[in-house]
Amino acid sequence: MKKVEFDIPVITNHPITPSIKEGAMAHVRPFVAKQGHQEALGFPGELVDDWHDKAIEKMRELLGKYRSLQVFMDSCVKCGACTDKCHYFLGTSDPKNMPVARQDLMRKVYRRYFTFAGKYFPKLVGAVDLTKEVLEDWYSYYHQCSECRRCSVYCPYGIDTAEVTMAGREILASVGVGQKYSNEIIGKVYKIGNNLGLPEKALANTLEDLEEEVKDDIDVDVRFPLDVKGADVLLVTPSADFFAEPHVDGLIGYAKVFHQAGVSWTLSSHASEAANFGLFIGSQDNMQKVAMRVREAALELGVKRIIVGECGHAWRVAYSYWNTLIGPFDFLDPKYPVPQHICESTYDLIQQGALKFNKEENDDKIVTFHDSCNVSRASRMGNMPGGQFVIPREIIKAACNHFVDMREDTIKEGTFCCGGGGGLLTDDLVELRVKGASPRVQALHEVIEQHGVTHMAAICAICKSQFTKVLPYYDMQMDMIISVHQLVGDALELGVER
Ligand code: SF4
Ligand code: SF4
Repeated sequence: MKKVEFDIPVITNHPITPSIKEGAMAHVRPFVAKQGHQEALGFPGELVDDWHDKAIEKMRELLGKYRSLQVFMDSCVKCGACTDKCHYFLGTSDPKNMPVARQDLMRKVYRRYFTFAGKYFPKLVGAVDLTKEVLEDWYSYYHQCSECRRCSVYCPYGIDTAEVTMAGREILASVGVGQKYSNEIIGKVYKIGNNLGLPEKALANTLEDLEEEVKDDIDVDVRFPLDVKGADVLLVTPSADFFAEPHVDGLIGYAKVFHQAGVSWTLSSHASEAANFGLFIGSQDNMQKVAMRVREAALELGVKRIIVGECGHAWRVAYSYWNTLIGPFDFLDPKYPVPQHICESTYDLIQQGALKFNKEENDDKIVTFHDSCNVSRASRMGNMPGGQFVIPREIIKAACNHFVDMREDTIKEGTFCCGGGGGLLTDDLVELRVKGASPRVQALHEVIEQHGVTHMAAICAICKSQFTKVLPYYDMQMDMIISVHQLVGDALELGVER
């Protein structure tokens, strides 16, 4: 690990709310997108001359388009319930990382330009002009929010800071100040088809290599099909699943499940990416353009079902937005009229008795589960309330003998973000990522101490990458984080009668 140039939060046996340190994270901001990365997404290449008027006009447009934004701007009563709920405040002590303060960055400007009191008595209502300094503050602190929605769970008015952050980023990009990491990645999807810029031939070779690897390992011909016309299922998964660790073990797990259940499936080189960073930058246009590849691939291949792999925000986009963005899905099998999550599919097969497990294969592990924000607070699974919490846990318990949950207020709808979500999984934000992970690491530390937990399973590509990077900063092993479908794949009995 490189020399660490910032303080790493001390992990204690109990959660601690930190004292405030003004400006503690004012120096942190991601790299600004270059001209090419901006223009490829339909944004101006650099800060436009009339940025002030354009930004206010964009805010007016968003207030009209998203009624929720107008309500959020008007309804905060400063009760303080959200102040200690953000992992970035808990990890950094910077008061501008309190959700209410993050909203106020925009609210103060909103009041100045869109309310009577703010126009005529700005000081009385805390209204401010939109200046370059304010714009700088927006850029910094709207990129210190992972859009995880934890704060909204505790707000009596349901104010969703994630939506304010998305609006802030959308306004910034529209005047020429986009974020390099997210915009560059979206550009790669347009140009090559996936976030990693993996061309079709390299993808085909990678999948062939995986077939050989599994054959060598367990002597079974498990297939990783690509572009198979007439397959029943199109699997759309994050491109990290093709080779990053521990993601790829999850992909091997999905393939073993499909093999054992006799499901005819395929991946697509046209839609070789489930992730959709259009959500992170708050741009519905870009979100739609990225998502459209999935519809095109499904129609081209003539599949009957679409299944989404282990990716938190991809599932949110699929569950909550696909129908509007790329629906209707009237060409799918009426039994599966909407996209499914891979966990729903595996859980159904377990319920039907189509999968058998040798749980002892995972007896070297005591497993806990990290609920991913976008799955927990922005989507569901199955046809039961809270299915997104029940289904992954039931899958883990079907494949493992030893499972324990972390502290109740840190799981399910109260789960802490990994610290790298929302377009922040970039090395230029490593200080934020390490500090923001500390509330999750603290809860993990508790179950390690109390129950000897050895592994934390997840169903999100970003969570897996983030923990692989940040756990070593806390003297924890990077390979503690594993894919849920790795547990499944390792314990699944292949070849037994279904
Ligand atoms: S959405 Fe998440 S990251 Fe953003 S302010 Fe709320 S708790 Fe913090
Ligand atoms: S909990 Fe809601 S109403 Fe209370 S301060 Fe936070 S955003 Fe405002």
